[in-house]
Amino acid sequence: MEEAIMKVCTACEKARPLTEFNRKGKGWRAQCRHCDVAYMAEWRKANREREQTYNAAYRESHQEERKEAFKQWYDRNRDQQIERSKQYRIQHQEVLLQKRLERREAERKRYAQYRQMYPGRCKTTRATYRERNREKIRAKGRIYHANNRERIMHRKSAHNQTPRGKTVRRIIRQRYLARKANAPGTFTVVQFLGRCDYYGWCCYW
Ligand SMILES: [Zn+2]
Repeated sequence: MEEAIMKVCTACEKARPLTEFNRKGKGWRAQCRHCDVAYMAEWRKANREREQTYNAAYRESHQEERKEAFKQWYDRNRDQQIERSKQYRIQHQEVLLQKRLERREAERKRYAQYRQMYPGRCKTTRATYRERNREKIRAKGRIYHANNRERIMHRKSAHNQTPRGKTVRRIIRQRYLARKANAPGTFTVVQFLGRCDYYGWCCYW
């Protein structure tokens, strides 16, 4: 039986058979194949990190140029990009909706937590905001209403078919008639709804 020729690796310093060394020209590499593999992996990793650092630094120092270049590119490809976004939204409709709902739910939870932590503050903050931005809110509402007229009307008429909706319509009409007859005393919708809850939503008149 022929004995395998051994060679000591300069890296791991282990004696290994020649078959575990790569060739180098007519001879052999000083390191064994295992050490070569480990070394290459290490080298690639270090290089990747260096490249990433370099790229990040480049992006940082060329922000304005990159912005400008992107703008020009976008101007050339605008229609195509808009179409692509549209297709993406259509194809990922369900996932996007799911994400939206999750975000909304998280937001709701966060807000509830905040309300619990600072009772009363939200109410005051909201009231102050509304007070300060009355005109802005109204303008926004008008625009929204104009853009969603159909949807709002549809929603309203659907609501009018519900027991609560029907009751509200009735109250509004009664209050209108009372005002017309110049009758003293009135009640708010909220007060009336409280009474309706009390009577279990059945007609009591
Ligand atoms: Zn080795």
